[in-house]
Amino acid sequence: MKVIWDEDTCIHSGKCVQNLPSVFQVRDGRFVIVQDGATQDEIAKTVGQCPSKALRIDD
Ligand code: SF4
Repeated sequence: MKVIWDEDTCIHSGKCVQNLPSVFQVRDGRFVIVQDGATQDEIAKTVGQCPSKALRIDD
């Protein structure tokens, strides 16, 4: 399982960073996804809460 982020679709709401900071992080101004930073269920839940659908899971 891998999280894919579409930068052009992201509206930078910050919801993913707030909801699951062990996975979705901003480091030195760049968006970083720590793919193994939480359980698959936790990651899937946060991906589903992205308001712009910029996040998706590639199985
Ligand atoms: S929740 Fe979605 S729209 Fe918001 S910052 Fe994360 S990827 Fe971007």
